[in-house]
Amino acid sequence: MSQKALEILNSLYGYDSFRGHQAEIIEHVSAGNNALVLMPTGGGKSLCYQIPSLIREGVGVIISPLIALMQDQVDAMQQLGVKAAFLNSSLPHSEQKIIEQQLLAGQLDLLYIAPERLIKNYTLDLLERCKLALFAIDEAHCVSQWGHDFRSDYLSLSLLHERFPNIPRIALTATADIRTRKEIIERLSLTRANSYISGFDRPNIRYAIANKTTAKKQLLDFLKQRKSEAGIVYCLSRKKVEDTAAWLTQQGFTALPYHAGLPARLRQTHQQRFLREDGVVIVATIAFGMGIDKPDVRFVAHLDLPKSIEAYYQETGRAGRDGQPADAWMVYGLQDVVRLQQMAQGSDGSEQFKRSERHKLDAMLGLCEVTSCRRKVLLNYFADEAPNQCGNCDNCQIPPQTWDATEAAQKLLSSVYRTGQRFGAVHVMDVLQGKESEKVLQHHHHQLSTFGIGKDIHEAQWRSVIRQLVVRGLLRVDIEGYSALQLTDLCRPVLKGEQSLFLRIEEIKAPSAKKAGSKSARKAQIAPEDQELWDELRECRKMLSDEFNVPPYVIFHDATLKEMLDTLPTSEAELLTITGVGESKLEKYGGDFLDILRRHAGVS
Ligand code: ADP
Ligand code: ZN
Repeated sequence: MSQKALEILNSLYGYDSFRGHQAEIIEHVSAGNNALVLMPTGGGKSLCYQIPSLIREGVGVIISPLIALMQDQVDAMQQLGVKAAFLNSSLPHSEQKIIEQQLLAGQLDLLYIAPERLIKNYTLDLLERCKLALFAIDEAHCVSQWGHDFRSDYLSLSLLHERFPNIPRIALTATADIRTRKEIIERLSLTRANSYISGFDRPNIRYAIANKTTAKKQLLDFLKQRKSEAGIVYCLSRKKVEDTAAWLTQQGFTALPYHAGLPARLRQTHQQRFLREDGVVIVATIAFGMGIDKPDVRFVAHLDLPKSIEAYYQETGRAGRDGQPADAWMVYGLQDVVRLQQMAQGSDGSEQFKRSERHKLDAMLGLCEVTSCRRKVLLNYFADEAPNQCGNCDNCQIPPQTWDATEAAQKLLSSVYRTGQRFGAVHVMDVLQGKESEKVLQHHHHQLSTFGIGKDIHEAQWRSVIRQLVVRGLLRVDIEGYSALQLTDLCRPVLKGEQSLFLRIEEIKAPSAKKAGSKSARKAQIAPEDQELWDELRECRKMLSDEFNVPPYVIFHDATLKEMLDTLPTSEAELLTITGVGESKLEKYGGDFLDILRRHAGVS
């Protein structure tokens, strides 16, 4: 490994050692080669192009679709003392000119640029007159038409190797199956490229999925243990986003809505507050989050089911980029299943497309219903190997119980049959429970032999049985026919008593991370006697963040403050040994933190 790279890692970033494939990638790219890097979120992709840009002569050009985040990325680099700038449509003309001049004068180490800007002739001409260190193509899966984030501007990036054949290209992404990887390599012409594929595991994320009963209350129970932590709550519809945000605000949380229907200015403000303030909960549709690189998002909660494991993985992956314990929490119910099945069926695509959508949904439902380790299901889905037990998901920590639901299922299936397979879940449950509703009386269903045979089972449990039978394919929901429940061939052996059926016992309360001693035991980090110093360190960070107009985590990560708390450095040399404290940050903020730490230690 080149000494230079390690030196930059230590003195500039304040980190001890490289992670995963970082060292190999940096060496390979610094030597002028192409690379494809697949690394999970939080794996440390940025260093893989930043350090080679610094080692190689010239400016490193980073192509990213995420204009809204360029400012923060540039701020973060500038805090480290790196000469970074960005070019995109949000910049006034005069500032653009200044950056162009700096570029031509060779005064920049890093230039962030949006693809639509890069492919303009004007920009290409400009770049041809500069010394270039490399091109980094971030979110590289956007070149793939198979992927889920295809962007037409990315297609034109094939011109990079045509116009700049000798400049190394490094493509980076957190999500790409084998097909997408192939497409990236072809489109960007990554000849003589090494591929660096890291596993998908995010060990610090705890996965928990529960049956939806009283969604808001379940969410509240979950959030109560996470007061003043930053997180994202995903909802499907704009209306639900707004309702949920308003409701959480009433409950005393700083909760801000975000969806594509809000004015751009407001969206921007909410995103900024999420990034810059401590402890903001953003309630959003999936319009939010692409490229959010806030490292200290402590939880991602889903109130609605994502339509595939890819989507779930990407959304939950926004939690815990800093490697500290984080939660991926979800509740889901029959409604979600029906809605997604409907979407998969009703989409305009070809039969093949529909089949693939169904397949993806089934995998997602499998993840929800599984009674063994969830991480294993997730990782196997991405063709990663995994141990049988991860110890950091709800199923590993509180193994689900099952019950013999054969008889209950028979009662349910017979009721569906006897009511003519024309009624939805609510009506069928009314019949089972012997409720003389208007509809029951109207159709004379109180005279059926199955009327009232399910009184012994609670309504919530019936819902759970119905959902599990739908997921297992014993029942289907006829979308065109008023969501009527219908039998499928698969239910025959159960009805005939040839097959018994064990179903999951749902916890009525959503499980939360309560197991003491588990990896994700929360709040355990700060001992009561340390609280005061901890608050002081955080206040200091907030003050500096306001002064420099950057988010708090750009000053120092929580983990860095925590290390200060644990090791109590009182000299500059000691402070410099702390992870995340490099020379530039030491110079800028070291004094303020040392004042606090020295006062605390009684040294002055
Ligand atoms: P991503 O792969 O999601 O782009 P980042 O590059 O943003 O990840 O890195 C995630 C976090 O991990 C950042 O805060 C980064 O500074 C930190 N990080 C990256 N590499 C290292 C390392 N070798 N040692 C310590 N922290 C690192
Ligand atoms: Zn597990």
